[in-house]
Amino acid sequence: MDKKQLIFLGAPGSGKGTQAVRISEDKGYSHVSTGDLLRREISKGSKLGERVKGILADGHLVDDHTVLELLSANCDLKSSKYIFDGFPRNIAQARLLDDELLKGVPSQAVYFEIALDKLLERLVNRRTCSACGKIYNLVSTPPKSPDSCDVCDEGELQQRKDDKEEVVGERLDVFGKTIEPMLEFYDSSSRLTQIDASLSADDVYSRLEGVIGAS
Ligand code: AMP
Repeated sequence: MDKKQLIFLGAPGSGKGTQAVRISEDKGYSHVSTGDLLRREISKGSKLGERVKGILADGHLVDDHTVLELLSANCDLKSSKYIFDGFPRNIAQARLLDDELLKGVPSQAVYFEIALDKLLERLVNRRTCSACGKIYNLVSTPPKSPDSCDVCDEGELQQRKDDKEEVVGERLDVFGKTIEPMLEFYDSSSRLTQIDASLSADDVYSRLEGVIGAS
């Protein structure tokens, strides 16, 4: 059966980014993360990056059309199956994704469900390799030696600015206020699967394989 476009929904720290990387490597999807695209614009110092820098630093959402434009410029649905990670973030974006990008192309949403009070600790302990992007958690999945990446041994293990405790609360709050209408939206079109994201990364992965196999 032809694969569907996958839409990963979940709170910051729910593990959807880590799973998106693994699934894309193993199953031939392209991974597109709007958070990564925005951070790339910021590090390039582009006009767009300058405009959104403060918004990311405060844990707020960038406006829907800016993110949609960036996303559209970075994916070509004719040539690839995508995992959309971090988009949509609200019901307006869910509708834009259907109407402006997917335009009838089959898709399946996967919700990484986890109690929000488990996430603060995950997020403040998250570190990312500056060279290869490998994600670690200092408590649950630490690198073998502190400060160096197991995979490439080249980058620095960095904490995202918005993973600092003061901003994490705001990001979780934004998520809590926007998720329910999106779940209803995908559920009402029979495109929603929920996965228990409190399980180990390997267990979440095998459940995802089941979803992808069936979609
Ligand atoms: P993420 O890497 O998905 O956690 O996103 C980091 C930050 O980028 C968010 O806190 C927002 O400021 C911004 N962002 C990412 N995706 C979106 C989106 N779809 N809509 C609006 N803002 C976004």
